[in-house]
Amino acid sequence: MGNKAKSIHKKEPKAFGLEEFTKSKSFRVAMQHTAAGLLWEANSGKKQKFRVCHCGRSIQGDVVVVYRATDGSRARFGGLTTCGSGWTCPVCAVRIGEVRREELSSAMVQHVTVGGRVNLLTMTFPHEFDHPLAELMEKFDKARQKFKNSRAYRAVLNKKEGAAGCLGCVSSLEITHGKNGWHPHLHMLSFTQRSITDDEIAKLKKAWVNCLIKCGLGDNTKLTEMMEHALDVRGGEDAAAYIAKYGREEKWGITSELTRPHSKCGLSEESMTPFGLLVAYQEYGEAWAGEKFKEFAGVFLGRRLITWSEGLRAQFAIDETDDQQAAETSDVPDEHLVGMLNPEQWKLVLSRNARVELMRYAAECCHNQATAQNDLNDFVESLKSTAQRARGWFYERLGWRLLQ
Ligand SMILES: [Zn+2]
Repeated sequence: MGNKAKSIHKKEPKAFGLEEFTKSKSFRVAMQHTAAGLLWEANSGKKQKFRVCHCGRSIQGDVVVVYRATDGSRARFGGLTTCGSGWTCPVCAVRIGEVRREELSSAMVQHVTVGGRVNLLTMTFPHEFDHPLAELMEKFDKARQKFKNSRAYRAVLNKKEGAAGCLGCVSSLEITHGKNGWHPHLHMLSFTQRSITDDEIAKLKKAWVNCLIKCGLGDNTKLTEMMEHALDVRGGEDAAAYIAKYGREEKWGITSELTRPHSKCGLSEESMTPFGLLVAYQEYGEAWAGEKFKEFAGVFLGRRLITWSEGLRAQFAIDETDDQQAAETSDVPDEHLVGMLNPEQWKLVLSRNARVELMRYAAECCHNQATAQNDLNDFVESLKSTAQRARGWFYERLGWRLLQ
């Protein structure tokens, strides 16, 4: 008896990385909670349009399983739903980003090793169009489609006819919000046999600007500016730097967002990613930012973060995985089962906003497998004496994929 009680409090020396893990996880889980709150639809019950509402919360089957890294650097839950929404879920976005980054690096290394070139093309349009996002995206989609069908594109980058010997392209859609409203842009990595010449770049620029004007995203009065900025083509080093940063938390603009003191009017002037908008809403109480996030989530629902042209993955022997599979991959190489929580215990954890606290406890204190389940139970029991901080709702047997 005495031994068991003692084991609860007996911590292993703090593992390297646990502090970092807890800090980053708490922040992302809080943001996820904010996103879910903004996107929750009162009448939809368990059939929420935005799956982030259930992410890391609703139970797939009957229990929540707790795993711990054997080095004590982290812990995680199994048996919960993973939304795989890279646009709206800050927890899933990090995992998806890691997987996609590895895939891109692998393709680049393979391609460059055999003498190929990777180019980074960035497509955008003049910023002064403060239109509703849905309308903007419709025009942007049309312009991109037209561009791909244009003579210049076909002559240079088309897989069959293109002169640069293009194996294919990977397109990644990004968006920021700043003082001139929404600013969607597309990065495209093209895998070619040789460099794209200056002459070809000039032709591509002209074609892109032409498509923009035809689709109502620019006019002749801005021609010089558009020729200069609307299409940017860069070589290998920039492409490599882009891949190295792909999907990283720093790119959300959150780190700077949080450390920089803000004047009230300053925030709406700043260029922010959608997750930056979430932070502005959550940390600075900017209601407009919450509304913008909702607008973004609605328009981007179902859109892909990243698209590989047909057959390109196979060229580099990279498996086809969807965003949910990517989000479900575990980042803990060596772990063990700590124990399980029943729905009642889970409700208690959620109602105290104690998910990250519990992960930390499991990582730090549940190393003794003989007492781990009891330790977990005691920890959850101890939450009863703390103040309730949330409703603690979740759905059981939500289904989706039953992975571990
Ligand atoms: Zn998620």
